[in-house]
Amino acid sequence: ARGRLARLRHTPAVTLDGQKVELLANIEMPDDAAAAVQAGAMGVGLFRSEFLFMGRHGKLPNEEEQYQAYRRAIEGMQGLPVTIRTVDIGADKPLDDTARDIGHLNPALGLRAIRWSLSEPAMFLTQLRAILRAAVHGPVHLLIPMLVHASEIRQTMSLIDHARVQLDNRGVSYGNVKIGAMIEIPAAALTLKVFLKYFDFLSIGTNDLIQYTLAIDRADESVAHLYDPLHPAVLRLVASTIEEGRLQGKTVSVCGEMAGDISLTKLLLGFGLRSFSMHPAQILAVKQEVLRADTSKLTPWAQAILADDEPARRLNQRV
Ligand code: PEP
Ligand code: MG
Repeated sequence: ARGRLARLRHTPAVTLDGQKVELLANIEMPDDAAAAVQAGAMGVGLFRSEFLFMGRHGKLPNEEEQYQAYRRAIEGMQGLPVTIRTVDIGADKPLDDTARDIGHLNPALGLRAIRWSLSEPAMFLTQLRAILRAAVHGPVHLLIPMLVHASEIRQTMSLIDHARVQLDNRGVSYGNVKIGAMIEIPAAALTLKVFLKYFDFLSIGTNDLIQYTLAIDRADESVAHLYDPLHPAVLRLVASTIEEGRLQGKTVSVCGEMAGDISLTKLLLGFGLRSFSMHPAQILAVKQEVLRADTSKLTPWAQAILADDEPARRLNQRV
């Protein structure tokens, strides 16, 4: 089966009814770009930059080191776009294994991701400058995790502007970037208008969206059986985000595990999703699902699933 899938590497991801679908890779380190290209990814939809920050006993990477790392990923993608997410430290991704963690009471609800970045502006500005500088080497999209308040959006935007001014003052060149937000907290999905106003694109982080919608810690084995991507509330938030983005002409992708799950490809296509980002190893299998899909049939089927109390049962009755 692997061999058969490998032949799809250069096949365009287009549905039976002619809908083009973007299949992107999630990477953790710059050298993962090779696996992404090898799998036929059309770009990187999620570079989890926090992996450059973890396990360093508090000694964070400086601007030059980050710039070199981002540049390596960008050059590795050979002109394809690279979406670099700013640090998503905290909760299931502590800075150090010794859990000298930030956010002590409940790390998943604490000072993680953009909340930590906004509380450490010097660290955040360093990362932003490194990303902006790396963007002269190829197309870069900047992605911000865990936003929920309009005020956080404005603060983030003003720090991005500030990073540009700092580079101008130093006479250092930098590239243009599209700026996007992760939609991974229910409150963000429910107030999408403000995100659509400020951002060029959105990326749905279903791993956290499920965690926060269902109040299930994604790392807690004892409740893993209740962690359900097909809960009607999760599906409603995912579907409405895709739809509202589409109506505004903004790209919406999914970069959580749902995007790489072949049992969900047709459902997401039925919701209108046309951009999926996943582990490189999943790309060809998802492409095979795309090639077999007819979105004109999937759209009404997905709407019926959305209206069901127990969508999992209906998902088994395939179209
Ligand atoms: C997500 O939350 O779905 C996501 C893609 O980000 P991470 O898994 O890194 O939190
Ligand atoms: Mg997340």
